[in-house]
Amino acid sequence: MTFENKVALVTGGGSGLGEAVAKEIAGLGAKVVVADIDLDAAERVVGEIAADGGVASAFQANTAKPEDAERSVAFAVSTYGKLNYAVNNAGIGGTPAPLGEIDIEDFNRVIGIDLSGVAYGLRYQIPAMLEAGAGESAIVNMASIHGEVAAPFSAAYTAAKHGVVGLTKNAAAEYGAAGLRVNAVGPGIIETPLIQEAASAEGARTAMVEKHPLGRLGRPEEIAKVVRFLLSDDASFVTGAYWKVDGGYTTV
Ligand code: NAD
Repeated sequence: MTFENKVALVTGGGSGLGEAVAKEIAGLGAKVVVADIDLDAAERVVGEIAADGGVASAFQANTAKPEDAERSVAFAVSTYGKLNYAVNNAGIGGTPAPLGEIDIEDFNRVIGIDLSGVAYGLRYQIPAMLEAGAGESAIVNMASIHGEVAAPFSAAYTAAKHGVVGLTKNAAAEYGAAGLRVNAVGPGIIETPLIQEAASAEGARTAMVEKHPLGRLGRPEEIAKVVRFLLSDDASFVTGAYWKVDGGYTTV
């Protein structure tokens, strides 16, 4: 498998799953725009990709802002000539609370980044991919197991991730005829900075592990490999799928 001559955009590429995806696809020859609200984090990842012989550029962008989604695509096209792949990965958890007590501002912030951010990304990525050649392009959206089951005390997150699955289906339905494939990934709980705080409470890590029949949490690389597959021609008849990588979390 090679991604030579492919140009990719990974949002939230400065940490965790986005970092693992950026490194995985850069390792296969893709030129990668590592977009993140945290420019230092994106630059660190780009430096590590370059040290391994890959080609990547950092770009500061907030997925909650439509104009940043547009600028990210324009940056990929002006830097590397086109856009073939996008991984809409940036996301946050929000402040835990039962629905009857949620902070409305926090709710809207999570929806803005985790759901609207994916829609804004699709809005500007799809035209660029039609231009580059839909059959040479693909999109993967980062949903979660919470695209299917509740994350108690994180209603905005659950709603956003269910919405990401819905956006993925719409994009696949609307652009399948053009040959563009759009899929979603549903990770279980993966060892990244995102879960560190929740996992630090007494007994929390054990409870998290017990949710997974495989008896452990996932590793970012285990998500990156599935994203790589979904982007690649090996997945040429896969579109509109919600591909869980959850150690069995949603089977029980
Ligand atoms: P992480 O916190 O390690 O990394 C997230 C990255 O996104 C950070 O670099 C951060 O700076 C960036 N980011 C945050 N807000 C942003 C914004 N508004 N615009 C652009 N970038 C922004 O988290 P992670 O665990 O790697 O999560 C990545 C994605 O995977 C998220 O969508 C998350 O919901 C999803 N996910 C994570 C897990 C898990 O257990 N870690 C499970 C399922 C799904």
